[in-house]
Amino acid sequence: MYDVKSMKAEEFISHDEILETLKWADENKDNYPLIDSIIEKAEKMKGLSHREASLLLALDDKERLERIYALAKKIKLEFYGNRIVMFAPLYLSNYCVNGCVYCPYHAKNKHIARKKLTQDEIIREVTALEDMGHKRLALETGEDPINSPIGYVLESIKTIYSIKHKNGAVRRVNVNIAATTVDNYRKLKEAGIGTYILFQETYHKESYEKLHPTGPKHNYAYHTEAMDRAMEGGIDDVGLGVLFGLELYRYEFAGLLMHAEHLEAIHGVGPHTISVPRIKRADDINPDDFDNGIDDETFLKLIALIRISVPYTGMIISTRESKNVRGRALELGISQISGASKTSVGGYAEEDDDEENSAQFDVSDNRSLDEVVRWLMELGHIPSFCTACYREGRTGDRFMSLCKSGQIQNCCHPNALMTLKEYLMDYASDETKKIGFALIDREVENIPNEKAREVAKDRLKRIEMGERDFRF
Ligand code: SAM
Repeated sequence: MYDVKSMKAEEFISHDEILETLKWADENKDNYPLIDSIIEKAEKMKGLSHREASLLLALDDKERLERIYALAKKIKLEFYGNRIVMFAPLYLSNYCVNGCVYCPYHAKNKHIARKKLTQDEIIREVTALEDMGHKRLALETGEDPINSPIGYVLESIKTIYSIKHKNGAVRRVNVNIAATTVDNYRKLKEAGIGTYILFQETYHKESYEKLHPTGPKHNYAYHTEAMDRAMEGGIDDVGLGVLFGLELYRYEFAGLLMHAEHLEAIHGVGPHTISVPRIKRADDINPDDFDNGIDDETFLKLIALIRISVPYTGMIISTRESKNVRGRALELGISQISGASKTSVGGYAEEDDDEENSAQFDVSDNRSLDEVVRWLMELGHIPSFCTACYREGRTGDRFMSLCKSGQIQNCCHPNALMTLKEYLMDYASDETKKIGFALIDREVENIPNEKAREVAKDRLKRIEMGERDFRF
């Protein structure tokens, strides 16, 4: 039975509804009047249902696809401007009791180096990240109630927020840890986390159970209902994602949108972000062992369709993807990217080859943060280190209503320029500085509201003089 408002995973992600959606999409994939009406609906920039979006995913017609890609770009610019939010993952521990067959942290992997950062090691990692200029982190851990219980995660968050190094500080800690209880989500909220991120991996229950044969993660319902518990615990920004390559992408796409519809229907606010990870080579893991890998073109089509289906949701791409794919994805709706990521535990502070053996997966973009920032600016984007929304309490439905009204532009654009200026002053190479200062000078003139423009100019000047106590 399909019921978007049910609190049961198997009802709001109904297998039958997904199968019927895919069948309906196949039957209608040459029904151009219907397809065109859906594209026209998408052009109103209010999103699409999982059925409508699934039909567009089945579409091959080049001309119409180009129209969809142009729309994805337009929607990104309309709601998020040319800003790209920067972040880095921080791996705290790779101890894990689960048996996820695609992940090198799985409990049976005896040759991966198991590591868990002490609080002192966290200080070293965060100091290294702050020395690069990062302000926003995504915490990652394996699931292990003994080695990384919730108390350890909470203590680590406290440590991270307490570190002030030169002009650097981590201003927003997002958390990607295993599904947990309402009580623990409440504790995470109290610890001041930003977004709670949990990838579904796959929405296909039968495959899910095979891919997670052992450990607490085996429980499909517990995992799939985690976002409802997180919201019940007071976390109003949640991040979804599937690990593309595990199951048929069309199935996952429909499931992902149904999950977003469910959150909106129950909590009045959809996902804050959607991530699009693809399975990668890793210790003990060969991505070719999985039959459902998707090529770059399909991957980019998915990104564009997510963009037009949930226009208010931020979209994240990690360094799992290459510079080339990331560059193309940015044109289709991505609003957040990581830079200079290490997926090993302790990887930022130590330049030790041995470290790689604790890594979660191979990264495809090994550039420094300075290089990524420069590249983004050369492509016409504004790298943003802003965390103001979160710090000012503009989360959940408050963020969404701001986003929906288009107002986010008026405060985000100046804030992005100011945080970029801070970054350039404190961390950038001379070449990056040169490009960045010129970009800021041009962009500040584009702030539509005169008062906001004058305030931004004044603050930019103060940043140049060394002031750093703005609440971004
Ligand atoms: N342990 C947490 C959980 O159970 O959700 C999440 C943290 S895990 C460090 C982050 C994500 O990495 C996983 O949710 C999974 O989607 C992804 N991942 C695992 N193995 C991967 C691989 N071989 N290639 C790419 N991504 C992978």
